[in-house]
Amino acid sequence: MADRIDELRKQVDLKTAKKLELEKVDRIMKRLEEFSPECETCANDKRRLAQQLDDLLEKNGNLEKNDIEKLKKVKGDMISHLQKVHKMVPEGQNVGLFMAIGISIGTSLGLVVFENMAIGISLGLAMGVAVGSGKDAEAKKKGLTI
Ligand SMILES: [Zn+2]
Repeated sequence: MADRIDELRKQVDLKTAKKLELEKVDRIMKRLEEFSPECETCANDKRRLAQQLDDLLEKNGNLEKNDIEKLKKVKGDMISHLQKVHKMVPEGQNVGLFMAIGISIGTSLGLVVFENMAIGISLGLAMGVAVGSGKDAEAKKKGLTI
């Protein structure tokens, strides 16, 4: 399976590889393999993803926007299943989440406490990143990161 991803990486240019998020596809695939024996959805998804990669490989590097979108959609479905059913956390999700929370708290605190929104926002942002990174590191340690 990893061979397919490697092969695809060789076929496309760096920019396309980045758009395809091949690293993420690789991680999703590993998780699907892990859960396949006990989860029918994962077993089906694994076949679906493999088929998708085969389709992309057949194009021999001539990928269109449509192809990238299709993979993105499939990937999104699989991530949401892994999150809901297997309690997985997409990498970096907590940083994004807590950054948003930090900014919104910081904005109101900044106005009320410091009478300066910019200070509030930067404080909120810094706290959000700190808390979010901590949560991400925790998830990673527990092996829950996709
Ligand atoms: Zn599953």
